[in-house]
This record gives sequence, C-alpha cells and structure tokens, in this order.
Amino acid sequence: MAGHSRGKHSPAPRTETHLHLADRFVAHNYYPLPVVIAEAEGAWVTDVDGNRYLDCLAGYSALNFGHRHPDLLRAAGDQLERVTLTSRAFHNDQLGPFCRDLAQLCGMDRVLPMNTGAEAVESAIKVARKWGYDLKGLPTNEANLVVAAGNFHGRTTSIVSFSTDPLAREGFGPFTPGFRIVAYGDVDAIRGAIDANTVGVLLEPIQGEAGVIIPPPGYLRAVRELCTASDVLLIADEIQSGLGRTGTTFACELEGVVPDVYVLGKALGGGIVPVSAVVSSDAVLGVLHPGNHGSTFGGNPLAAAVGRAVVALLSTGEFQKRARELAGVLESGLRQYLGAGLVDVRVQGLWAGVDIDPTLMSGREMSERMLAKGVLIKDTHGSTIRLAPPLVIEEADLAWLIERLGTVLAEAR
Ligand SMILES: *Cc1c(COP(=O)(O)O)cnc(C)c1O
Repeated sequence: MAGHSRGKHSPAPRTETHLHLADRFVAHNYYPLPVVIAEAEGAWVTDVDGNRYLDCLAGYSALNFGHRHPDLLRAAGDQLERVTLTSRAFHNDQLGPFCRDLAQLCGMDRVLPMNTGAEAVESAIKVARKWGYDLKGLPTNEANLVVAAGNFHGRTTSIVSFSTDPLAREGFGPFTPGFRIVAYGDVDAIRGAIDANTVGVLLEPIQGEAGVIIPPPGYLRAVRELCTASDVLLIADEIQSGLGRTGTTFACELEGVVPDVYVLGKALGGGIVPVSAVVSSDAVLGVLHPGNHGSTFGGNPLAAAVGRAVVALLSTGEFQKRARELAGVLESGLRQYLGAGLVDVRVQGLWAGVDIDPTLMSGREMSERMLAKGVLIKDTHGSTIRLAPPLVIEEADLAWLIERLGTVLAEAR
C-alpha cells in the first residue's frame, strides 16, 4: 500500500529531468511539489520513477470519482470512436441527454454548457446582469453583484476584480466594476450591500481555496431568504463543493437550500475533460438568445458524454453516501492531533481544511514532508492545508493518510 521515502533533496533521475524541463519551459504561475506523475488509478498515482502516492488533493476535487473511473473511461472511449467536436453551430446527439440529466440532478430546467469553472462563473455573472436588465428593468450598466471576501471563483480579469487575494489581483487591473465584497458568513453584511440595482449574490456554500471555510449554521438559509425577499438571484458556485464532495450532491443541500443558479465544473468532467455548466430555471437562462453568449468547445459531444456519465454516477447516491460515511473517520482522525500540531480542523464530507500550528511548519513544508511519505496534499495558504481525497478512497487508505500526518507532526514537534 505505502509509497516510499526518499530525501526530498535528491529526486531520482527521471524526476530530475522533468523538473528541469518544467523549470526551463513552463510558465512559473504554479509552485508544484517535486513529483512527476506518469500514471494513476483510483486514489493512487505513480511517478516517473515508479513510486506510488495516495492522491489526497484529487485535482482540487476534479477527481471526485478517482482517476480513470471505468464508467467514465468507457463513456469517453465510446465517444472518441464516434464524434468529439461539432461546435454549437450544429446539434450533437450527446448534448440534449446530458443537459436533461444534469438539469434533473439539479432540480432545474435548463443548462448552459461551458468548459472551465471560471467560464461558468463568468457566464453566470453575464446571465444575472442580463436578467436584471431584461426582467427587472434596471438602468443600463448599473447592475451589481454581492460577493464574499476570501472567495475563489477563478482567474479571469472580471473574476479577479472581486478577489481579495493580493497575489491573484495585483498587477492585473484595470478591474471590472459592479461587485460589492462583504464578509463571508455574515448575512447582515449582504443585506447592507443589496440595493435596487443588485442582481445577485454569488457565494461558495463552503469556501474551498480559502481553506474549507464552513459558514455558521443557518447562514445559507438566511441568505436564501434574503435573496428571495430582495428579488435577487442566489448564485451558488458549487464548482469545488458540489458533486458529492460534502456528502450531498450539493453543499447547499446541507442547509436545505436551493439556489437560483448552480455553477458547476471540476468533477463534472470526471477528471477527463474540462466540463462546466450554469444550471438554472427557464426564467433565468431564458434571457440568453442566439448570439448573446457562446463557446467553441462548450457542449461538445465528448464533454457531454463524460458529463452525462458523471451525472449517472451521482444519481445512484453511492458517492455521496461514501463521503458521508468516511467523513467521521477523517474528522475524528484529524481531531486527535488538535493541540498536538494542529490548531483547527474543519471537515465536511471528504473535505477538510486543516490549520497547522504555524510555529511548527508551513502548509508547504507539511506538503513536502507528506510527499516524502507517499501522500500528495497541497497547502491552500500559510499554514493551512486542504485534504480532498477521491471519494473512492478505501477506508484503510484514509486511515493510513491520517497516520502519516500524525507521524509528520510528531517528527516536527
Ligand atoms: C476551481 C474553482 C473555480 C475555477 O475553476 P477553473 O476550472 O479553474 O476555471 C471557480 N470556483 C471555485 C469555487 C473553484 O473551486
């Protein structure tokens, strides 16, 4: 089961070659851990030198169903044999069934297919603004959206315009106006920011990149009620929190909340192709008419076939149940280290934000030490790490992850 241990300063020859190429030819917009993955299956990956690692990042939750899930590989493989791209200039025989199944999973009417998460967020912003102008009769170019501090919604210029992370923002202006940033978890702050020109409140039901920040109980429900009373759209960015991760299909369900708009991505592509979507009612998505919006690759038959297979996996409820059942193992396992190297632990489903005692080590150092022990994790910032193993992870492997974490903490104390 276990990986291996090797001094982090002496990578094996093949790894070394790839690290060198990356350093020389890849833009340095990431700071990857020094592991070069060549193969993967389920919750495990193998590097170019044959070492195995337990993947506890799972592509930032794009790999909820594990690497190369057989049903998803079959859907992709079958579709590769038929047709992969048509453009939306024509219909294809995968898009309608995919959108029907996804709309049903969401309890919504209609789907706007896109590719990446940021594109889906951008699309939701455009739709909300047009909804405000077309249906609420707002004055031209006056629409605003309320968003939360600490958010992560992607990397486009408009999205970084309302980021509160200086690294994501600085140097990329001028910024897009029309966003009001309020504290996360504070419904009164949202109430204070909404005015006659507000079209929507855009939130992550649990903030992922911020470090798995779970809002106070009742928050989402109160925001839902406020949005309804104010006639503004509640737009839930479930790109990372959705599709089984939290033990429910959507994190909004944890409070019995149904948003007006779901924004989905990451796991929707099954870890095979980028697939994202805006899912909403006829009234909201009905504001889009031919020519208003589009995407060359959005809704392509390969993406639709894979996305439909993802929806089929979620429809059984099996993955959500697994995440719920294993959540206890993850939470109790992590909590035993509170006061013994960890200062805070936040768990929902198979998703954990873990704050390490900053005097002990940074999140980066933890990630490097875990790598040397055969576990892939990633810091979100500072001394915070996120654990998001594939939902297919074996219970014994989850226990092993927790034991490895304990060893790293013990060695550092
Ligand atoms: C990852 C993420 C995005 C952006 O998705 P990309 O596919 O990287 O563009 C947006 N919102 C949330 C909540 C995310 O986690």
